[in-house]
Amino acid sequence: MAYRIDRDELLARVELADVLDALSQCVGQSGRRAWRCVDPDHPDEHPSVKISTDSRGVQRWRCWSGGHGGTAIDAVILAKSLTVGDAIRWLNDNHAHLQPVERTPPPPPRPLGKPHIEVRRYVERAQRLLWTAPAANIRQHLHERGLGDDVLKANRIGADLGRRYLPRPRGFPAGWPAAVYPALDRAGQVAYFQARFIDPPVGRDKYDNPARRWAANPRMAWLTPPASAVARAGVVVVTEGVPDGLVAAQAGFVSVAVLGSQHPDQRVADALADTKSAVLICFDGDEAGKRGADRLEHHLAERDVDSVIRIEPPAGYDLTDWALQDSTWTDRLTTHVHPPSIGTRPSEPDSSGHLMGFGLGLGIGR
Ligand SMILES: [Zn+2]
Repeated sequence: MAYRIDRDELLARVELADVLDALSQCVGQSGRRAWRCVDPDHPDEHPSVKISTDSRGVQRWRCWSGGHGGTAIDAVILAKSLTVGDAIRWLNDNHAHLQPVERTPPPPPRPLGKPHIEVRRYVERAQRLLWTAPAANIRQHLHERGLGDDVLKANRIGADLGRRYLPRPRGFPAGWPAAVYPALDRAGQVAYFQARFIDPPVGRDKYDNPARRWAANPRMAWLTPPASAVARAGVVVVTEGVPDGLVAAQAGFVSVAVLGSQHPDQRVADALADTKSAVLICFDGDEAGKRGADRLEHHLAERDVDSVIRIEPPAGYDLTDWALQDSTWTDRLTTHVHPPSIGTRPSEPDSSGHLMGFGLGLGIGR
């Protein structure tokens, strides 16, 4: 039964002496009363338990010979070998007789794709803040990753400069300065967002997300090329995380950034299959990236997506690093995704099932 008893209220309602009387034997008269220890393992021949009241007004007992002690709840736990919850219930049933309050259920998670209005407000404010003077270091962080203003604006990237500039409810990311990456759905609506700390506090992740009661994590973000880019139709680039997705978008590709990239799930595969486009997977050049790409390739094969092209950045690189190091990376990719090669599956998969050919000549293939 899901009901709740307030612990402080319970302790205020019970008379500890009565509880000890019920659990143990008492000697002495009022004022100088003592009880045998409530711990069944403590053979307390000469009663050692006394009662006092602490500074908060809570009655406590102490066993002066065995070192035991605590509140009425602790006495019941010890004497009857009960859990805290059961001890509280026992005390209420036998001594306090409080009316239990029905436990308020936690707020339900938001449905997928329907974030709370506060989420959209935060994203909109962050979007405006990115272009203000105090956000210079956040713009610099993004520019250093090779991202231009056009692609940042097209994808509604923002800046979190703290509560003074950007109020937010509890359950939102609470560290700053941070770049704010909205996760847009395919129609360009804000579904979710991630805050990426510029200087993550020691021991904390670089990313923080809103709590589920504000928005459900869609596991992916759609990114669109800026109007200034040469659009490359017929292919969707899939990346690990939004920054790499922005790099691909800047190069003219519609892209899907997988959030929590080690686990591209069924939903991501469904969305990609739905585009009827060739899918170009460009995850990180490391073991986790390979595993994620394997998994996604498997899900796509299950959905009969024929044209899956897998490109790996050089070992240890992600797409951002690769693009920074090699400005011709897009030319190299597009030789492989330019029509009519789109939709044409190379005839010779290698022994591990991965497509050969696309990496050849790039020096980056498997
Ligand atoms: Zn004791």
